[in-house]
Order: sequence, then structure tokens, then C-alpha cells
Amino acid sequence: MEAEDLKGYRGPARDLLLRHNARVWGDVVIATDQGDFRGIILPRSETADDQHLVLKLASGYNIGLRVDSVQSITEVGYRKAHYQIPEKVFPPDPSKPNVTLLGTGGTIASRLDYRTGAVIPAFSPGELYGAVPELVDVANLTTKKLYGEFSENIGPQHWMGMARAVAEEIAAGADGIVIGHGTDTMHYTAAALTFMVQDPPVPIIIVGSQRSSDRPSSDAALNLINACRAAGQGDIAEVLVCMFGPTSDQYDLLHRGTRVRKMHSSYRSTFRTIGERPVARISTTDYIHIREHYHRRRPGDHQVKLNAVFDERVTIVYYYPNMKPDIIESLIDNGYKGIIIAGTGLGHVNKPLYPALKRACNSGVHVYMTVQTLWGYVQMFVYDTGRDIMELGVVPADNMLPEVAYVKLGWALGQTHDRAEVRRIMLSPVADEITEREPIDGYLVMQGGLPEMEQYFKSYKR
Ligand code: ASP
Repeated sequence: MEAEDLKGYRGPARDLLLRHNARVWGDVVIATDQGDFRGIILPRSETADDQHLVLKLASGYNIGLRVDSVQSITEVGYRKAHYQIPEKVFPPDPSKPNVTLLGTGGTIASRLDYRTGAVIPAFSPGELYGAVPELVDVANLTTKKLYGEFSENIGPQHWMGMARAVAEEIAAGADGIVIGHGTDTMHYTAAALTFMVQDPPVPIIIVGSQRSSDRPSSDAALNLINACRAAGQGDIAEVLVCMFGPTSDQYDLLHRGTRVRKMHSSYRSTFRTIGERPVARISTTDYIHIREHYHRRRPGDHQVKLNAVFDERVTIVYYYPNMKPDIIESLIDNGYKGIIIAGTGLGHVNKPLYPALKRACNSGVHVYMTVQTLWGYVQMFVYDTGRDIMELGVVPADNMLPEVAYVKLGWALGQTHDRAEVRRIMLSPVADEITEREPIDGYLVMQGGLPEMEQYFKSYKR
């Protein structure tokens, strides 16, 4: 037996394989205390324990079997997996729109690395194209890999790089842009691109997946197909996030870049529009505008307004009870120029912070208030305390989401540090980051009050 045949297995697990003459990638039947299992023995993570075998079942799911529960292993075949998907090139079809897919990394560009057990960025955009052949029917795709990062590593430099790349592709004639991105910080990127590439002439669709494409429950393919449809064939020329609407594989929602947020750590339907309703619903068979009058349509040209600037000396301070002023003091002393506070309720922080906030404002730091509740507006006129905080120089940011306000402040400070001008930029909405009112039926989704939800709840009534 070769070393590769025992890849990653140590101690008792390795001895078990040797004893039964079984190897990694062997298609086996394993008799255990709990019955028989049929599947492929997978390589083991180097950091994993030495007490389990890992088996990929025909259903695609992996299970671990305790070494001491195994009675026998019978190899019935050998099926080594080849994870490299060939890059596919298709001749362009002049009747189809031209879509550029820019890869930046994340799970949508990932597969499982059996060596470490981790999800690693491994698919190039070209490989993705090869992996989802349905895309051929949707658009002529050009794929470019900008970055290969999980999205916690994406920041202002990447946002500016993406904005420039998007502008270049549009100017070169792309009918739509898709950006493959990790989901964790996708909403920051969506906000940044909304500010940096304003009034885009074509759709700029940001897409990701919560589950890597080697998993049977992956959302990568459906999200990608719908994103390419929205980019190539859709008429809404805005920065939009395209991700699962319901928890099952039915349709995606298109969310406006400044009103969207990742709201669940593992559901595929993790992105929700906050303070508004989603812009559209898209499946492989339909494309339904949810807010008919509200969309920016394709103007039919390829003019791009690029404003890719960012001052990195900005931060978000998430208020918690008993926060001490030294947090604010240290930001001032460390040269921060912008602070977004995510305050309680209507936009409050405790009294001990007041002197520090006053010092911040007096020393030229731009301080804006948003709300932790996410839904609703900062309203600092309601209580005296709100008025006091405004008198210190803190500016209420209406119903801008804290993350969006952070991105917008960095972008504003990339242009000017003039107090009045920064304020003008911050409070002039570019694309609904501030809205006049929030819809009641947006907030109520999944929380009662809508007929279909009431129906659903009724079905559970005893
Ligand atoms: N950690 C990953 C990322 O944001 C998760 C994902 O892509 O869904 O890059």
C-alpha cells in the first residue's frame, strides 16, 4: 500500500485500514455495530483525530465512523476523485449578452480541501463556468480573477480595485457584470461599489454561496445562473446582491447594494433587505420586479462615473451598556477621522461618553449616529439625551445601516474633510441608503402580519 492510500490517517484509524486492506478512495462496504455503510473512503484532514474513518455516501454527504465500531471493510471498487474542473471556453454567440464575471474568492470559488478539512479558494472563474454549463444559455461570459480571498480579507483596497475593474469592463462594452464574492462581507462591498460606481449603465450583480460547490446542498450554481441572468438579461442597472430568497432551491432575491445585510451565519437564505423590500425576485424561469417604480433602468449607453476613493481612518463603534470613554479617546489619539456609532434604540450612548465625543468632534473627527436595531430611523429629537448628543457634534444618519454608513464615511473622507461637505455627502442619498420611509410589509416578512405567513402559522395551530 502506498502512502497516498492512507492519506491523513494515523494511529488506530490507519491500523484499521491496513488490517482490512482498505485504502483512501476505495469504494467500500463497512460493517459496523450500527449496520452497514457503503461509500468512498475520503482522505483525512491532517489535523483530525485518529479514531474515525470518513466516508462519502452516495447521497454526497460525508459521515465519520468510529474505528472501534467497525467490524469489517470490503472494497468493491476504487473511485479517486478529480477535483480539478477543466476551464471551459465556448464560442461567443452574438445573440446573447456579454457578461463579465469577476472573481474575488469566497465559498462560491471554493471546494473542500480534504487535506486540511477546510474550504479553500480553488476554482478559478473559468472553472466555475465549466462547472455550471447552464451558463452557456444565459450569456457570453468573460471571466477574470481579481482576487482569491475569503471576504474577511477584503477591504477598501479591494473595493477600489473592483470598482476600477467594473468601470473598465463596462467601458469595454460588457452588458452586465457579475462579481463572485465571499458572503460574509459582501454587503460592505455592495455598498462600496454603489458609491464608487454611481448610476451604472448596466447591472452590477454581486453573488456568493453559503455552501461550497462540492456539497449536494450547494447554492453556488443557482445563485450564479440567476446572477448572470440578472446581469445579462435583467433591466435593473444597479449594484445588487443576488442570493437565495427562501431556504430551499426556489428563487433568488435581488437586494439593493445599500440596503442588504447578511443575517444568518449558515442559512443559504442569509441575505435580507433591511428597511425596504427586495428589488426583484429571479428564478431560472421568471424575473419579477418587487418595487416597480423604483428601479434604475439601463440607459442604453456605457458611460461610467467612477469615484474610487477611500480614507481608511474610519471605524464603527458598536455601543454596549457601560462602554467606557477610553474607547473613543483611543480612536482620537490613534488618528481616526471618522466614527460611526451603532447606538441603542433611537440613537443613544451613555453619558460617560459625552466628553470624549465632544473632544472627538472638536478635534475634527466626523461622528455619525446609526441604530443597532437596523430597522427604523435615528431620532435624536425624541429624548433630551439625543439632543445632548447632537449638541456635541454627532450627526444622525437617518436610517443608514451602520456598515453602509461606515463605507460611505470612508468614501466621503476620501474626497474631502470639510465638515459641511462631508455632512452634505453623508446625508444625500446615492441609492436608497437613506429612505423617506420604511415599508411595514418589509419588516413583517417572516414575522407575522402577512397573509401567507398567517396561513403558515395557522397550519401549525392545534
Ligand atoms: N467565509 C466565506 C467568505 O465570506 C463565506 C462565504 O463565502 O460564504 O469568504
